[in-house]
This record gives sequence, C-alpha cells and structure tokens, in this order.
Amino acid sequence: MIRSIPIFLSFFFLVNITGFAQNQPTILIPDVLGYKTLTADLHTHTVFSDGHVWPTIRIEEAWSEGIDIIAITDHVESTNLFRLKSVFGDDLEVDREGGFFPDRNRPFEIANEVAERRNVIAVNGVEISRTMPPGHHNAIFLTDANKVNTPHPQWKEAFQAAREQDAFIFWNHPASFHYPEATTLWWEEHTWLLDNDLMHGIEVVNGRRYNPVAHQWAMEKNLAIIANTDVHAPIGMTYALHEGEKRTMTLIFAKERSIEGIREALFARRTMAFYQDILIGHRNFLDAIFHNSIVIESVVKTDNGFQVVINNPTDVPFNLSRADGNDPSLTFFEMKRLPSGKQTTIRIYAENPATYRQIDLKVVVDNLIMAPDTGLPVTLTFIPE
Ligand SMILES: [Zn+2]
Ligand SMILES: [Zn+2]
Repeated sequence: MIRSIPIFLSFFFLVNITGFAQNQPTILIPDVLGYKTLTADLHTHTVFSDGHVWPTIRIEEAWSEGIDIIAITDHVESTNLFRLKSVFGDDLEVDREGGFFPDRNRPFEIANEVAERRNVIAVNGVEISRTMPPGHHNAIFLTDANKVNTPHPQWKEAFQAAREQDAFIFWNHPASFHYPEATTLWWEEHTWLLDNDLMHGIEVVNGRRYNPVAHQWAMEKNLAIIANTDVHAPIGMTYALHEGEKRTMTLIFAKERSIEGIREALFARRTMAFYQDILIGHRNFLDAIFHNSIVIESVVKTDNGFQVVINNPTDVPFNLSRADGNDPSLTFFEMKRLPSGKQTTIRIYAENPATYRQIDLKVVVDNLIMAPDTGLPVTLTFIPE
C-alpha cells in the first residue's frame, strides 16, 4: 500500500503541471485615466453555427493569449448548421421541417463552464445575420438568445427582443464581403436602429480590415468603436500567434473587471480598436496610453546634442514622425519606431546643447489613429540630466 503513494503523488503533480500550473499570459497595455484596460473579442463563432471549434476552445484560446473577455456570437439563424445530431446529442432539437437547431444559449453555457477557471469573462451573444439592409449585427449580454431568433423578414423584432434583455448591439463589418456592391452605405434602416436605441457600436475593424467610413460614423454618431476577429477557424490558424501577431481586439476601459464593468464601459463608449499594431480611438485615451507606456530612461548631453533612451515595455509599438512647428535649431529623426518590449536610443543634434534646460519635440504617433488618416500629435519633453 505504501508503494502506491508515490504513484498517486506523481499523477497528482502531472495533472497540476499540465492543467493548472501555467501562469496566464497578459497583453501589456497600461491602465489609463483611472480605468482598467481590458482586452475583448466580441465576435466569435463556434460549431453551433458555422465556426469550426467547440465553444470551450474559444475560452482556452483567449486564456493562452491573455484576452480578458470573449463573446460567443453564433449566427442566431443557424442557417449554415450542417452538423450531425450524433455530434451534438441533446444539444440539438429537430424542428417541424426536420432541421437541426441548437438551443442558442448552449454555446455560451458550454464556454462559460471553463471561463471562470481560466479567468476569462464569457459573454452570451448572437449575430443577427440578415440581408443588407440592415446586414449583420451582434447583440451581447443576452439572457435568452433564443428569443432573438425571429423569422427572417422580422428583423426589427429580433433587435427589439435583444434590447428587451438590455443587450449592447453593434453593426458588424458594415462593408461586408457579402455585399461588395454596397461598399459601406448607411441605410434608413440604420437610422431607425440608431433612433430606437438598437445600435450602440460599430465594427471599425473586422478581422484585419479597417473601415475608415465606419470610423467616421462612430465619431459622428457617437457609436462605440469596436474591433473583432469574427473568427471561425481555430485562432492560431487565423493569426500567426507563434510569430507574435496578436488577434484583432477591442480595448475596453472599465471601472472594474466584471460583466457589469464591461457593460457600463461599452454603453459609455469607452473603447478602442487594436489591430496589427494600430490603435484607433478617442484622443484622450490614445494620449493617455502613449504617455503611460513609454519610460524615459536617460537624457544625456553630448558635445553636439543629446542622447535619449526611451523604454517601451508594452505590447504596442509606437511609430513617430516629426511634426511641424519644432525648434529649428534642433535636428532629429524624420521617423522613429519605438518597438514594443525594447529600449530605443534617440539622438537630437543642437548647436549649443549647454543652453537647453528642456527639449520639446513635436511628433505625430502615426499608428495611434484619432480620426481617419489622422495620427495622434504629442510633445515629447526631455530634461537633460
Ligand atoms: Zn457577419
Ligand atoms: Zn460573424
């Protein structure tokens, strides 16, 4: 009997190491303006519609990338469901026409079973996928997703059923690949949605596609800026995570890391898009992220100017370009990248360095976008040692 104890212990350790002992990775973006910066993907699919993975996989993927929030948003109409009853078991019901349709809450419920253990917040949602207009919209924070599954022409009722559950609703991929002839058009149906409190945000980025028209609308119509993967395949088949690429995501600036905190922040429009090393958002949040990210390590006077070392410990690189209106007696870079997780040395040339007590460089951060084609202007201030 005594000999069996080490076997039991080693089994216990094995389970521990493979299942629970890893540290959760995090995405390094600073908290700003008194809010927690949370990372979210609010548009994902599973096998419950036309996705390729089981709902728990969406949570495991998020855990391994350091994503805080995942909304499971399968097409509520489930028109692409070709899966076998044998795979789904009791998760499928046979309707009057003999088609298979799942309980639309099940993908969330299944995902949610592992979410708490993985420290990921799962959100129940659906994609209301109607022909344009109004196109595709996600409704999240649902209590009963089944009620949103109205007959196809009754799309208004679908939105109203979601809103009765206090859902947050946003327009997906407004320039859809489904409707290339329409490019990005605002229809009267969208005015109706907006006027009836049935649209609160818009995907400014879907997958790797940024839509400047949607960005402009977000600004003009006070819609939350949203960025999602709309992932159908495993995330690692869609993004080169092993090469350091990050999935497209929405940054949410929340008072607390909870469903209520996320909901409050979304309705207050405190969001930002993050995709392909680019941030798209409101100027005050972009400015706060930049200034809370970089650390000026040293400012040393040299014979012909200054040598500055800047550290950027975050996961966001910053692409600086020289702006107009700088001190003409200072010579410095035309463009400079502050890579993520690295120190960068900047050289500034001046005729008489001894006379400077402070150096101000006016630059534009080209990859922090506050309006279409408009980077964030900032002033870098250096005090020589
Ligand atoms: Zn869609
Ligand atoms: Zn979708």
